[in-house]
Amino acid sequence: MMEYRRLGKTELEVSIVSFGTISFDPGPEKRLSDETVAACLNRALDLGCNFMDTARAYGECEAMIGRTIMDRRDEFYLSTKSTAMTYDEAMKDLETSLEALQTDYLDLWLAHSVSSGERWQRIMEPDGEYKALAEAKAQGVVKHIGASMHRDVHVMKELISSGAFEAILVAYNVVDGELLEPEVLPLAAEHDVGVFCMKPLAGGGLVMPEEKRKPGFGGPDAVVAGSLRYVLGNPAVACAIPGMIAVEQVEANLGIGNNWVPLRDEELKELRSVIGSLGLKFQYGETCLHCGSCLPCPQGIDIPMVLRAAEMKRGYPDNVKYLADDLWEWLQFSSEMCDECGECLDRCPRGADIPAALREAEATFAVEGAS
Ligand code: SF4
Ligand code: SF4
Repeated sequence: MMEYRRLGKTELEVSIVSFGTISFDPGPEKRLSDETVAACLNRALDLGCNFMDTARAYGECEAMIGRTIMDRRDEFYLSTKSTAMTYDEAMKDLETSLEALQTDYLDLWLAHSVSSGERWQRIMEPDGEYKALAEAKAQGVVKHIGASMHRDVHVMKELISSGAFEAILVAYNVVDGELLEPEVLPLAAEHDVGVFCMKPLAGGGLVMPEEKRKPGFGGPDAVVAGSLRYVLGNPAVACAIPGMIAVEQVEANLGIGNNWVPLRDEELKELRSVIGSLGLKFQYGETCLHCGSCLPCPQGIDIPMVLRAAEMKRGYPDNVKYLADDLWEWLQFSSEMCDECGECLDRCPRGADIPAALREAEATFAVEGAS
């Protein structure tokens, strides 16, 4: 039986494993056929999935959904997004989305990627995108409104506290929580803003080539199954929306929701050790899993945060690099603090040379300087 959870104040009861559709259309050469899309979406609905998320910006995705699954419209909640800045642009996007999706209503409409102070302020101006969201909701064309967002935790907190949004879509996975855990997720819970998660498999970074996959953690691919169970084990998360492009993936991922059990502590340790042994690089070129297994450091160094700050400095877009500088300043770290005692080394699941990584982190800030 599929597990369903309440998506905050939307009151929608969504399947914990729901459907992210961005992977349907990664570009003309790799675009899925309508037959494959139909097979995946139908199988997902048959297995208890009741929520699909897409976006105006995802190429042909809305149209693919519209052409393939709308004969079952009353069996699922549908969410799409607009990157528009203004009311007029957003209203045009809404009309286009509804036409492409072949439906006359959305269960959830999101302001897409409210990930900088500039975009946040612009959409909340009197002629900004938010006016369109609110109006469409008042008209009943859209049942609920929300926002997707990345990285900028200050904007996230302002948006949640504004009380203007009912749900947020954030990136969260076992190797990268985008620093949501200390403040953003608790604040969302306090304001009863529903949280659903994109990139539960690190944007495909945790999906191995077929020859490397091994069964485990309740699925045919241990890394995928363990990673999904990790995300869904956080009680602040209503559901995850992995991308799925084959019926076998749908069956494996929906199986996690249909046989739901949280990851036990020892399983999480094992999962991290498996991921660490694969030597993967993630979104910002990082190899650190941010697992904290290296702690405590006798010198009081917050190793994962120091490494995280450097990753942010190297990988974040320019308009949010200030988050890296803020974090670096707050950490008050100097590589001289590490006396190379070696205590952390055996505890790291990826076998990192942590003192060297700390020196590299410091060099990142020394070279680029704080902006
Ligand atoms: S080697 Fe450095 S970072 Fe690691 S535990 Fe010792 S002092 Fe801390
Ligand atoms: S350095 Fe190693 S142990 Fe420490 S957080 Fe990163 S992956 Fe985990």
